[in-house]
Amino acid sequence: MAWQAKFMVQNGRIIPWEDGRIHPHALAITYAASVFEGIRAYRHPQTGAYSVFRLKEHLERIMQGVKIMRFENPPTMAEMERGILDLIPKNEPDDDVYIRLQVLVEGPGTQVTRGPTGWTVVAIPRERSPGFSRGLNLGVSSWTRISDNSMPPRVKAAANYHASRFVSMQAKADGYDGALILNSQGKVSEGPGACLFVIRDGRLLTPHRGSDILESVTRTTVIQVAREMGYTVEETTIDRTELYVADEAFMCGTGQELVPIASVDRLPVGDGKPGPIASALQAKYEALVRGTTNEHAEWRTAV
Ligand code: PMP
Repeated sequence: MAWQAKFMVQNGRIIPWEDGRIHPHALAITYAASVFEGIRAYRHPQTGAYSVFRLKEHLERIMQGVKIMRFENPPTMAEMERGILDLIPKNEPDDDVYIRLQVLVEGPGTQVTRGPTGWTVVAIPRERSPGFSRGLNLGVSSWTRISDNSMPPRVKAAANYHASRFVSMQAKADGYDGALILNSQGKVSEGPGACLFVIRDGRLLTPHRGSDILESVTRTTVIQVAREMGYTVEETTIDRTELYVADEAFMCGTGQELVPIASVDRLPVGDGKPGPIASALQAKYEALVRGTTNEHAEWRTAV
C-alpha cells in the first residue's frame, strides 16, 4: 500500500489533511481562478534522503501565472518554498512524492475580483506512467489545443485542464493510453499533461515555444541535458505525419517523467519499442532527479 498524506498546507499553515477548506462560492471554483504546479520530490535509493527537482523553476513559473492572472497579494516564492519543504517530512513518505501547489482566489466576487489570494500545498504518492518501460500507445486527438489568445497554455491554470480532460477522456474511450493534440495551425503541440519530443535521423525535435505548449520545466531540462550528451535539439514545428515516420518519440513532464511512445494512431513509432536515444535520456533523467549523479546538483533542493 502506498503511504498516505496526513497533512497539507493552507496559507502557510500545516493543517490535518481533512481540515483543508475552500468556500463553494470562491472565485477559484465559480470562475476557476487558480494556477498550480505539479512538482516531484525523489527519494535517494541509498540514503533515503529526499530532494525536490527544479523547485525554483516551478516557483518562478507559478509567479508568472499569478502575474498574468492578475492575482492580488500572492504568497512569495520563499513562503511557498518553506511550505513545500516543511510539509514533505510531516507526511512521513516512504517513496517518491508528488506535490501540488495551488494559488487561487479565495473570496467571492465578479470577473474582475483579484483577491484575496490563498495558496495550498498537498504532497501525495503518485505512480509511474504505465508506459514507462513498454512505451505509450497514443492517438492524435480530434480536439484542438487551446491557444494564447483565448486560454493561454503558458499559464498553468486549472481552467486549461478542462480542455485536457476532453482530450484524455476521448483517448481513453478510444482505447489509447493518451493523446497528442494539434494546435489551431494544425501542427503538433503537446499532450494533455506533458510535452513531446520526436527523434528523426539522430536529431531531437520538439514543438517550439509558440506552438501553444506549456513552457515545461522538464522540456527545458531535456533540451539542456540532450545537448550536453552531444545530441542536436531543434525547437521547431512538427507535422502530424512526422509522428508516423519518426525513429523514436517520447513524452516528458514532471508528473509523466520521461516516457517513450510506442505507437501513434496505431502506427508503430520506429519498431514499436522504446528506442536507444529515448532510453538513454530516460536513464539520465532518472539519475538527475534522484540525485544518483553529482551532475546538476543545483537542480535538487534538499528536504
Ligand atoms: N504540458 C502540459 C499541458 C502539462 O500539464 C505539463 C505538466 N505540468 C507539461 C506539459 C510538463 O510540464 P513540466 O515539465 O513543467 O511538468
